[in-house]
Amino acid sequence: MSDIINLNLFELVSNIKDKKVSSNEVTNAYIERSKKSKHLNSYNEETFDDALKKSKEFDSKPNFSKKLPGVPIAVKDLFCTKNVKTTASSKILNNFIPTYESTVTQNLWNEGAILLGKLNCDEFAMGSSNETSYFGNVVSPIDKNLVPGGSSGGSASALAAKLTPTTIGTDTGGSIRQPASFTGTVGLKPTYGSCSRYGIVAFASSLDQAGPMTKNVKDSALMLEVMSSFDNKDSTSIDFKRPSYSKDLSIDIKGKKIGIPKEYRVDGMSEEIEKLWEDGKNYLKNCGAEILDISLPHTKFALPTYYIVAPAEASSNLARYDGVKYGFRTEGKNLIDMYEKTRSEGFGEEVKRRIMIGTYVLSSGYYDAYYLKAQKVRRLIKNDFNDAFQIVDAILTPSTPSSAFKIGEKLNDPVSMYLNDIFTVPVNLAGLPGISIPAGLDRKGYPLGLQIIGKPFDEQNILNIAYSMEDKINFKFDAKDWWMK
Ligand code: GLN
Repeated sequence: MSDIINLNLFELVSNIKDKKVSSNEVTNAYIERSKKSKHLNSYNEETFDDALKKSKEFDSKPNFSKKLPGVPIAVKDLFCTKNVKTTASSKILNNFIPTYESTVTQNLWNEGAILLGKLNCDEFAMGSSNETSYFGNVVSPIDKNLVPGGSSGGSASALAAKLTPTTIGTDTGGSIRQPASFTGTVGLKPTYGSCSRYGIVAFASSLDQAGPMTKNVKDSALMLEVMSSFDNKDSTSIDFKRPSYSKDLSIDIKGKKIGIPKEYRVDGMSEEIEKLWEDGKNYLKNCGAEILDISLPHTKFALPTYYIVAPAEASSNLARYDGVKYGFRTEGKNLIDMYEKTRSEGFGEEVKRRIMIGTYVLSSGYYDAYYLKAQKVRRLIKNDFNDAFQIVDAILTPSTPSSAFKIGEKLNDPVSMYLNDIFTVPVNLAGLPGISIPAGLDRKGYPLGLQIIGKPFDEQNILNIAYSMEDKINFKFDAKDWWMK
């Protein structure tokens, strides 16, 4: 079979099940392509030999009842993988080899998937461009000058470049949806509590969620089905009956009420994004949905709230990296000196910035003014969504305020970098599910995404809406393999 890498996940699975292609052939195809795609810097760690071995084992005793039978998958380097280096793209974890497996990746392997390698990301998932990685920036397959988005930039780049048939990322403030939008792929952030956080390197625990990144909506449904599970190893995991998202997928969204929040029409939004949003509404109308104007009045506070809550939690989570419990250490004159040297050398600039902001907003004297206040505003943001969902079934917004920007363009301007998350962050603050689907190209020919936000645990509904829109949008993009050597 010659066209393996162009199959979507669903097609790949059915070809494996029909014995038209073996797991080993598939694994080989992705490895060969990945080897020729070093220029993108998508991988932190390749587990190719092991993947080939596992694919042969699968082929010698195939179990076709699995949902991902012998499918090779590369994952974000934020998921702990047993006996495979897991760095979160940080120097401080540069030699960390977990002795345990994250629940989400374990769920993939339980369904027959095979690890291809660990994908680059922003350091500790802090960033929107995959430029904060200790292992260097990731290049977008869309164009040699572009960032792939972040923090799941290695995942987005690998998926769009067809180095893996599907992948997984994490989303604390947009890190699945924004890179998906920048690379013309589908990214879903599930409801908080749907996918276990066990074994995922923590950034901001009340916001972090794992989710699928895929070539299309149906693949997203299949991946979510595999990833989502109740897990008593994560105290915020929620025990609810998980639907068969891919089986129950339907393009029938007649009569669904879709809200358009006026506060998302931000100052300086480009005409292209306006038009994309307008087109989105028309697709939905053509699918039989009803469009309603709604208001989410506290939207303007979402970004400042996020940039208090997320660094606060990060500063606490990252306190564990002290040169004692994990690998990297710089020797010092005494214990305090060792801590200080280890942390100043082990963390990059952006991570240190967040630790400092987080420590500041949690410190006595500032806690009430910043952290406590932010928590209260977070509740108001959540209440806005609750009110909106009394009237509508889902909400449509652009995924990002622009298409992908140039490598280096925003690196020295953290605020303009943070503004990227303006449409995605409220969803994490409220714990809701959101999906970004490719919806068009801008003037330069770069992909743009639309986001659909749902009620808690209503992933099936946003998947259905995305599925019916995808059908109408018929997005096609061919990156032409310019990076291959
Ligand atoms: N870009 C956001 C940040 O830097 C979101 C990151 C994420 O979702 N992991 O915090």
